[in-house]
Amino acid sequence: MSNFHKSILAESTCILLDIDGVILDQNFDNLFWGEWLPAAVASKKDISLETAKEDIYKTSKQLYGTLPWYELKFWEDKYDVDLISLAEQNKSYVKFIEGAEAALKFMSSLNKKIFFLTNCDSRLLKVKSSQVSLLNYADDWISSVDLGVIKEDQKFWTIAFNQLNVLASESIFFDDNISIVNSAIDYGIKYSVHITEPTNNDSVIYESKSEYQIRKLVDLIRAD
Ligand SMILES: [Mg+2]
Repeated sequence: MSNFHKSILAESTCILLDIDGVILDQNFDNLFWGEWLPAAVASKKDISLETAKEDIYKTSKQLYGTLPWYELKFWEDKYDVDLISLAEQNKSYVKFIEGAEAALKFMSSLNKKIFFLTNCDSRLLKVKSSQVSLLNYADDWISSVDLGVIKEDQKFWTIAFNQLNVLASESIFFDDNISIVNSAIDYGIKYSVHITEPTNNDSVIYESKSEYQIRKLVDLIRAD
């Protein structure tokens, strides 16, 4: 399987990568939204942790896959918490996914353009990249929150490809979110690869029906 993906990689002139769940351990975000934010809200509003979790979960469910869900500002305004300081306090949890840095080094050796395309708010990405040096592996990166249009939306791809000056038909793309993988395929990135294991602790493992899928980026450099 991985030889197949390696040959696709060799054919492509441009490598596009999501960040969270592909390069960085998704567990940071899972804890950030699922544990640390509820704890901060519970303390701020003097409510129980369980009540805070329920409220956040309800809001999150309503907004999942939309722009506000990804925007720090939305959550800061709604709950009156400082999310950057929350991220700073917990930044030791920001980690490469096992083998991701080696895979990025391999990709860098191929002499292709490398871009990171993320729905992570650039303010949060700044904290993450101060903890783990990942942006040096990319020629450039785009936060969809800065553009005001997320990767689930076809307009994102039009703007991104114009900005990056590369072709969808010559690109390979990696993302752990199947809705986004499908959005990329709809736009014309045929080689859109679903990453099925976005955490280091295996707390999330996706069943995938994608034509192109690997467990983790490191599969690309494993001998088989
Ligand atoms: Mg992701």
